[in-house]
Amino acid sequence: ERRHGKMDTIAAISTPMGEGAIGIVRLSGEQAVPTADKIYAGKRPLMEVDSHTINYGHIKDPSTGETIEEAMVSVLRAPKTYTKEDIIEINCHGGLTSVNRVLQMALKHGARLAEPGEFTKRAFLNGRIDLSQAEAVMDLIRAKTDRAMNVAMNQVEGRLSNQIQTLRQKLLETVAHVEVNIDYPEYDAEEMTLEMIREKGTEVAEGVQQLLTTAHQGKILREGLSTVIIGRPNVGKSSLLNSLVHENKAIVTDVPGTTRDVVEEYVNVRGVPLRLLDTAGIRETEDIVERLGVERSRKVVKDAELALLVLNYNEALTPSDEELFKLIDGQDAIIIVNKTDLDKKISLDEVRQLAGDQPVISTSLLQDEGVDQLEEAIRTLFFEGEMEGGDMSYVSNSRHIALLEQAKSYVEEALSAAESGMPIDMVQIDITRAWEVLGEVIGDSVHESLIDQLFSQFCLGK
Ligand code: GDP
Ligand code: ZN
Repeated sequence: ERRHGKMDTIAAISTPMGEGAIGIVRLSGEQAVPTADKIYAGKRPLMEVDSHTINYGHIKDPSTGETIEEAMVSVLRAPKTYTKEDIIEINCHGGLTSVNRVLQMALKHGARLAEPGEFTKRAFLNGRIDLSQAEAVMDLIRAKTDRAMNVAMNQVEGRLSNQIQTLRQKLLETVAHVEVNIDYPEYDAEEMTLEMIREKGTEVAEGVQQLLTTAHQGKILREGLSTVIIGRPNVGKSSLLNSLVHENKAIVTDVPGTTRDVVEEYVNVRGVPLRLLDTAGIRETEDIVERLGVERSRKVVKDAELALLVLNYNEALTPSDEELFKLIDGQDAIIIVNKTDLDKKISLDEVRQLAGDQPVISTSLLQDEGVDQLEEAIRTLFFEGEMEGGDMSYVSNSRHIALLEQAKSYVEEALSAAESGMPIDMVQIDITRAWEVLGEVIGDSVHESLIDQLFSQFCLGK
């Protein structure tokens, strides 16, 4: 049990996703119910109602008797709650100011303002969820597309945890075998044990690798695919941007960890969230090479994960076009030959030759033609059909990725040590390290300050 002594009662505004009109003030802790009772007037005091009920009443200021809000109050008693503590949820309907007043009232009468992520932190500390699940909650809050949401949901439900546990179990079996060997050398099971290390070690290395291969896609789902649109003036870059934004659900989010006024535009293209790099910037840097110079524009383009190069069907290729091809050389890119409604003056053979492996799509953005093919090209470029399953458990968190990489190299070291006839207790060290590192993914054996740092990234109220 990870419980760290008695915890005070915390409160925060936690508004459910997609329901901006309703605000919830949530309290958690031993004093949650009595605190709520001080500011609540209903048919019966909340102390007397059954757990897991919703109660209609009013929130009032006990010092003046003034009514602040009409409210529905959920009473959820421990341990069957998100935090495993008593939880009160006050649903308010009256917009942000009144939600705020209700919160202030709760803070005045016994609760303390929750730190960011503190509810989820308590769920973790009280053993309700493991660390990878807690992190998934954070991802869920930030989920930018339905698919990203599914990935996060799967993780909340413990898929990644289960996979990690299975791998750890295999390592543990090997370690147990090694122990037997060391404790009873006369038993002479050394060859058997080495055989087992080879077998299980290979299985674990493969399992870890499988998780790692999902990582790239997971990262895209979570963070969006940074995308730049480049091309000479007047080829149709703004038109492309507009059609991507208009045909797809554009999601404007403020990005956690950056200043509040930085806004990025996301479009969900067939499950691939494109993060249109500083959309305003794209609009302003149309003649990207001329404006920024070759070196800086190269950096902007190289830093992007996807480049969309727009060409004009109605003009022959120019030296500037060829310059842009060089800029995106070796990069994930899609070539768009736009304005096919006009006369053909470009040489498509030449375009294909310059494009090499990069897909070439023809469009008439004016007539809304070719956009489907472009979207399909974006999807296959990144997910090659794998997106449809929806039940893969993508590793999408950079901390997990780093730990998995470590685990993999420990297992590989153990395997090669076993091959080269190293003493078996040396082999065991690497296996034990791999086991520990995998444990860190799910929050076994993590350092306290790491936990604090992780949870402080959460949105308030979760
Ligand atoms: P940008 O300078 O690259 O951003 O190009 P714009 O998107 O601003 O487009 C330049 C001009 O080309 C505008 O007048 C657009 O309406 C026009 N345009 C864009 N796409 C097409 C197309 O597919 N066919 C034709 N005929 N005109 C287009
Ligand atoms: Zn433009």
